[in-house]
Amino acid sequence: MLELKSLTKTYKTGDKALVDVSLTVPEGQVVGLIGPSGAGKSTLIRCINRLVEPTDGDVLLSGSPITGQDQRKLRAMRRRIGMIFQEYALVERLTVMENVLSGRLGYVGFWTSFTRRYSADDISRAYGLLDRVGLMQHADKRADALSGGQRQRVGIARALAQEPELLLVDEPTASLDPKTSRQIMRLLIEICAERNLPAIVNIHDVPLARQFMQRIVGLRAGEVVFDGAPDALNETV
Ligand code: ADP
Ligand code: ADP
Repeated sequence: MLELKSLTKTYKTGDKALVDVSLTVPEGQVVGLIGPSGAGKSTLIRCINRLVEPTDGDVLLSGSPITGQDQRKLRAMRRRIGMIFQEYALVERLTVMENVLSGRLGYVGFWTSFTRRYSADDISRAYGLLDRVGLMQHADKRADALSGGQRQRVGIARALAQEPELLLVDEPTASLDPKTSRQIMRLLIEICAERNLPAIVNIHDVPLARQFMQRIVGLRAGEVVFDGAPDALNETV
Protein backbone atom coordinates (compact mmCIF):
# COMPACT_ATOMS: atom_id res chain seq x y z
CA MET A 1 0.00 0.00 0.00
CA LEU A 2 1.14 3.52 -0.80
CA GLU A 3 0.13 6.47 1.36
CA LEU A 4 0.72 10.12 0.57
CA LYS A 5 0.00 12.42 3.49
CA SER A 6 -0.36 16.14 2.89
CA LEU A 7 2.38 16.09 0.28
CA THR A 8 3.46 19.60 -0.66
CA LYS A 9 6.17 20.79 -3.02
CA THR A 10 7.13 24.38 -3.60
CA TYR A 11 10.12 24.72 -5.91
CA LYS A 12 12.83 27.31 -5.21
CA THR A 13 11.35 29.34 -8.07
CA GLY A 14 8.17 29.72 -6.00
CA ASP A 15 6.15 27.32 -8.21
CA LYS A 16 3.65 25.45 -6.04
CA ALA A 17 3.76 22.11 -7.82
CA LEU A 18 1.88 20.13 -5.14
CA VAL A 19 -0.44 21.48 -2.48
CA ASP A 20 -1.46 19.24 0.40
CA VAL A 21 -1.98 16.05 -1.64
CA SER A 22 -3.25 13.06 0.34
CA LEU A 23 -3.84 9.76 -1.39
CA THR A 24 -3.93 6.07 -0.48
CA VAL A 25 -3.37 3.40 -3.12
CA PRO A 26 -4.19 -0.09 -1.86
CA GLU A 27 -2.54 -3.25 -3.12
CA GLY A 28 -3.60 -4.28 -6.63
CA GLN A 29 -5.07 -0.88 -7.48
CA VAL A 30 -3.90 1.09 -10.48
CA VAL A 31 -4.48 4.82 -10.24
CA GLY A 32 -4.40 6.91 -13.40
CA LEU A 33 -3.01 10.36 -12.73
CA ILE A 34 -4.32 12.96 -15.16
CA GLY A 35 -4.21 16.73 -15.45
CA PRO A 36 -2.97 19.45 -17.80
CA SER A 37 0.71 20.14 -18.36
CA GLY A 38 2.16 21.77 -15.25
CA ALA A 39 -0.47 20.24 -12.94
CA GLY A 40 2.18 18.50 -10.84
CA LYS A 41 2.00 14.91 -12.14
CA SER A 42 5.76 14.48 -12.64
CA THR A 43 6.47 16.19 -9.35
CA LEU A 44 4.13 13.77 -7.56
CA ILE A 45 5.93 10.75 -9.01
CA ARG A 46 9.34 12.29 -8.27
CA CYS A 47 8.39 13.04 -4.67
CA ILE A 48 7.52 9.37 -4.15
CA ASN A 49 10.88 8.04 -5.35
CA ARG A 50 12.66 11.08 -3.91
CA LEU A 51 14.11 12.43 -7.11
CA VAL A 52 12.46 15.57 -5.73
CA GLU A 53 12.49 16.34 -2.02
CA PRO A 54 8.98 17.36 -0.86
CA THR A 55 8.64 20.62 1.04
CA ASP A 56 6.22 19.01 3.47
CA GLY A 57 4.23 15.83 4.08
CA ASP A 58 4.98 12.12 4.15
CA VAL A 59 5.20 9.19 1.77
CA LEU A 60 4.72 5.72 3.26
CA LEU A 61 5.29 2.47 1.38
CA SER A 62 3.83 -0.60 3.11
CA GLY A 63 3.73 1.51 6.27
CA SER A 64 7.35 2.65 6.27
CA PRO A 65 8.25 6.25 5.48
CA ILE A 66 10.35 7.15 2.43
CA THR A 67 12.70 9.97 3.28
CA GLY A 68 15.62 11.43 1.38
CA GLN A 69 17.96 11.95 4.35
CA ASP A 70 20.00 8.77 4.29
CA GLN A 71 21.44 7.73 0.89
CA ARG A 72 21.84 4.08 1.81
CA LYS A 73 18.25 3.77 3.07
CA LEU A 74 17.02 5.69 0.06
CA ARG A 75 18.72 3.25 -2.32
CA ALA A 76 17.15 0.32 -0.48
CA MET A 77 13.76 2.04 -0.65
CA ARG A 78 14.07 2.75 -4.38
CA ARG A 79 14.63 -0.93 -5.02
CA ARG A 80 11.15 -1.50 -3.64
CA ILE A 81 9.73 0.82 -6.32
CA GLY A 82 9.56 -0.31 -9.95
CA MET A 83 9.81 2.53 -12.45
CA ILE A 84 8.47 2.43 -16.00
CA PHE A 85 9.24 5.32 -18.34
CA GLN A 86 7.86 6.94 -21.47
CA GLU A 87 11.12 6.46 -23.38
CA TYR A 88 11.72 3.02 -21.82
CA ALA A 89 15.25 3.88 -20.56
CA LEU A 90 16.68 0.57 -21.76
CA VAL A 91 20.38 -0.05 -22.18
CA GLU A 92 20.40 -0.15 -25.98
CA ARG A 93 23.54 -2.24 -26.42
CA LEU A 94 22.37 -4.98 -24.07
CA THR A 95 20.01 -7.79 -24.95
CA VAL A 96 16.41 -7.97 -23.84
CA MET A 97 17.41 -10.59 -21.27
CA GLU A 98 20.28 -8.48 -19.92
CA ASN A 99 18.00 -5.47 -19.61
CA VAL A 100 15.50 -7.48 -17.60
CA LEU A 101 18.23 -8.91 -15.38
CA SER A 102 19.54 -5.41 -14.70
CA GLY A 103 16.28 -4.80 -12.84
CA ARG A 104 17.55 -7.10 -10.12
CA LEU A 105 20.12 -4.47 -9.19
CA GLY A 106 17.88 -1.43 -9.35
CA TYR A 107 19.41 1.23 -11.57
CA VAL A 108 22.70 0.18 -13.08
CA GLY A 109 25.06 1.57 -15.65
CA PHE A 110 26.18 -0.32 -18.71
CA TRP A 111 29.33 -1.78 -17.16
CA THR A 112 27.73 -2.88 -13.92
CA SER A 113 25.04 -4.78 -15.73
CA PHE A 114 27.61 -6.26 -18.09
CA THR A 115 30.00 -7.57 -15.47
CA ARG A 116 27.56 -8.66 -12.81
CA ARG A 117 26.94 -12.39 -12.59
CA TYR A 118 23.40 -13.49 -12.04
CA SER A 119 22.19 -16.54 -10.18
CA ALA A 120 20.31 -19.36 -11.90
CA ASP A 121 17.28 -18.18 -9.93
CA ASP A 122 17.57 -14.64 -11.31
CA ILE A 123 17.80 -16.02 -14.82
CA SER A 124 14.86 -18.38 -14.55
CA ARG A 125 12.77 -15.60 -13.00
CA ALA A 126 13.74 -13.30 -15.87
CA TYR A 127 12.66 -15.92 -18.42
CA GLY A 128 9.36 -16.22 -16.59
CA LEU A 129 8.87 -12.46 -16.85
CA LEU A 130 9.80 -12.39 -20.54
CA ASP A 131 7.28 -15.14 -21.12
CA ARG A 132 4.63 -13.15 -19.23
CA VAL A 133 5.16 -10.01 -21.32
CA GLY A 134 5.29 -12.04 -24.55
CA LEU A 135 8.96 -11.59 -25.44
CA MET A 136 10.38 -15.05 -24.89
CA GLN A 137 11.46 -15.44 -28.53
CA HIS A 138 13.24 -12.05 -28.42
CA ALA A 139 15.32 -12.70 -25.28
CA ASP A 140 18.66 -12.54 -27.09
CA LYS A 141 17.93 -9.58 -29.36
CA ARG A 142 19.52 -6.25 -28.63
CA ALA A 143 17.13 -3.73 -27.11
CA ASP A 144 17.67 -1.34 -30.01
CA ALA A 145 16.34 -3.95 -32.47
CA LEU A 146 12.84 -3.90 -30.94
CA SER A 147 9.68 -1.96 -31.74
CA GLY A 148 8.34 0.64 -29.28
CA GLY A 149 5.72 -1.71 -27.87
CA GLN A 150 8.28 -4.47 -27.39
CA ARG A 151 10.64 -2.05 -25.69
CA GLN A 152 7.96 -1.04 -23.25
CA ARG A 153 7.32 -4.72 -22.53
CA VAL A 154 11.01 -5.03 -21.64
CA GLY A 155 10.59 -1.97 -19.41
CA ILE A 156 7.72 -3.66 -17.61
CA ALA A 157 9.60 -6.96 -17.19
CA ARG A 158 12.66 -5.11 -15.89
CA ALA A 159 10.60 -3.26 -13.29
CA LEU A 160 9.02 -6.54 -12.17
CA ALA A 161 12.44 -8.23 -11.89
CA GLN A 162 13.02 -5.97 -8.88
CA GLU A 163 10.06 -7.64 -7.18
CA PRO A 164 8.73 -4.19 -6.35
CA GLU A 165 6.03 -3.28 -3.86
CA LEU A 166 4.90 -0.38 -6.01
CA LEU A 167 5.00 0.59 -9.68
CA LEU A 168 5.46 4.21 -10.74
CA VAL A 169 4.68 4.58 -14.39
CA ASP A 170 5.41 7.82 -16.21
CA GLU A 171 3.51 8.27 -19.49
CA PRO A 172 4.07 4.66 -20.60
CA THR A 173 2.29 4.97 -23.92
CA ALA A 174 3.16 8.53 -24.95
CA SER A 175 5.56 7.23 -27.63
CA LEU A 176 3.29 4.45 -28.91
CA ASP A 177 0.50 4.20 -31.49
CA PRO A 178 -3.09 3.84 -30.20
CA LYS A 179 -3.38 0.08 -30.69
CA THR A 180 -0.03 -0.66 -29.03
CA SER A 181 -0.95 1.80 -26.25
CA ARG A 182 -4.06 -0.19 -25.45
CA GLN A 183 -2.11 -3.47 -25.43
CA ILE A 184 0.49 -2.05 -23.06
CA MET A 185 -2.14 -0.54 -20.77
CA ARG A 186 -4.05 -3.83 -20.65
CA LEU A 187 -0.86 -5.72 -19.82
CA LEU A 188 0.00 -3.30 -17.00
CA ILE A 189 -3.45 -3.58 -15.45
CA GLU A 190 -3.45 -7.39 -15.64
CA ILE A 191 0.00 -7.67 -14.11
CA CYS A 192 -0.83 -5.37 -11.20
CA ALA A 193 -3.96 -7.43 -10.51
CA GLU A 194 -2.06 -10.74 -10.70
CA ARG A 195 0.67 -9.53 -8.38
CA ASN A 196 -1.49 -7.41 -6.14
CA LEU A 197 0.72 -4.42 -6.90
CA PRO A 198 -0.34 -0.83 -6.33
CA ALA A 199 0.55 1.50 -9.19
CA ILE A 200 0.38 5.15 -10.14
CA VAL A 201 0.29 5.79 -13.86
CA ASN A 202 0.93 9.31 -15.09
CA ILE A 203 -1.23 9.30 -18.19
CA HIS A 204 -1.68 12.14 -20.63
CA ASP A 205 -4.29 10.37 -22.72
CA VAL A 206 -7.62 10.85 -20.91
CA PRO A 207 -9.69 8.52 -23.15
CA LEU A 208 -7.12 5.77 -22.51
CA ALA A 209 -7.32 6.44 -18.76
CA ARG A 210 -11.11 6.26 -18.90
CA GLN A 211 -10.97 2.96 -20.73
CA PHE A 212 -8.53 1.16 -18.47
CA MET A 213 -8.29 2.70 -15.01
CA GLN A 214 -10.40 1.66 -12.05
CA ARG A 215 -9.60 4.94 -10.38
CA ILE A 216 -8.58 8.31 -11.71
CA VAL A 217 -6.97 11.13 -9.77
CA GLY A 218 -7.09 14.52 -11.45
CA LEU A 219 -4.55 17.18 -10.57
CA ARG A 220 -4.80 20.85 -11.38
CA ALA A 221 -2.31 23.45 -10.19
CA GLY A 222 -0.94 20.96 -7.68
CA GLU A 223 -4.27 20.10 -6.08
CA VAL A 224 -6.41 16.98 -6.30
CA VAL A 225 -9.58 18.12 -8.10
CA PHE A 226 -10.99 14.67 -8.84
CA ASP A 227 -10.66 11.24 -7.25
CA GLY A 228 -12.99 8.49 -8.32
CA ALA A 229 -14.14 6.04 -10.94
CA PRO A 230 -13.75 7.04 -14.61
CA ASP A 231 -17.56 7.12 -15.02
CA ALA A 232 -17.78 10.05 -12.62
CA LEU A 233 -15.19 12.06 -14.53
CA ASN A 234 -16.64 15.11 -16.24
CA GLU A 235 -15.24 18.11 -18.02
CA THR A 236 -13.87 19.78 -14.88
CA VAL A 237 -10.58 17.88 -14.99
P1 ADP B 1 3.19 17.94 -14.99
O1 ADP B 1 4.01 16.70 -14.87
O2 ADP B 1 1.76 17.73 -14.58
O3 ADP B 1 3.32 18.59 -16.34
P2 ADP B 1 5.18 19.14 -13.27
O4 ADP B 1 5.22 18.36 -12.02
O5 ADP B 1 6.24 18.92 -14.28
O6 ADP B 1 3.73 19.00 -13.91
O7 ADP B 1 5.19 20.69 -12.92
C1 ADP B 1 4.36 21.28 -11.91
C2 ADP B 1 4.77 22.72 -11.71
O8 ADP B 1 6.06 22.78 -11.11
C3 ADP B 1 4.87 23.54 -12.98
O9 ADP B 1 4.47 24.85 -12.65
C4 ADP B 1 6.34 23.49 -13.33
O10 ADP B 1 6.74 24.62 -14.05
C5 ADP B 1 6.97 23.46 -11.94
N1 ADP B 1 8.25 22.73 -11.93
C6 ADP B 1 8.44 21.44 -12.27
N2 ADP B 1 9.73 21.08 -12.10
C7 ADP B 1 10.35 22.19 -11.63
C8 ADP B 1 11.69 22.47 -11.23
N3 ADP B 1 12.65 21.54 -11.30
N4 ADP B 1 11.97 23.70 -10.78
C9 ADP B 1 11.00 24.63 -10.71
N5 ADP B 1 9.73 24.44 -11.05
C10 ADP B 1 9.39 23.23 -11.50
P1 ADP C 1 7.28 16.83 -18.05
O1 ADP C 1 6.44 16.72 -19.28
O2 ADP C 1 7.95 15.55 -17.65
O3 ADP C 1 6.60 17.51 -16.91
P2 ADP C 1 8.64 19.32 -18.49
O4 ADP C 1 8.93 19.73 -19.89
O5 ADP C 1 7.55 19.96 -17.71
O6 ADP C 1 8.50 17.75 -18.49
O7 ADP C 1 9.98 19.47 -17.63
C1 ADP C 1 11.22 19.02 -18.10
C2 ADP C 1 12.24 19.22 -16.99
O8 ADP C 1 12.32 20.59 -16.59
C3 ADP C 1 11.88 18.46 -15.72
O9 ADP C 1 13.06 17.96 -15.14
C4 ADP C 1 11.24 19.47 -14.83
O10 ADP C 1 11.43 19.17 -13.46
C5 ADP C 1 11.98 20.72 -15.21
N1 ADP C 1 11.12 21.92 -15.10
C6 ADP C 1 9.83 22.02 -15.46
N2 ADP C 1 9.35 23.24 -15.20
C7 ADP C 1 10.39 23.94 -14.68
C8 ADP C 1 10.54 25.27 -14.20
N3 ADP C 1 9.53 26.14 -14.19
N4 ADP C 1 11.74 25.63 -13.74
C9 ADP C 1 12.76 24.78 -13.73
N5 ADP C 1 12.68 23.50 -14.17
C10 ADP C 1 11.51 23.09 -14.64
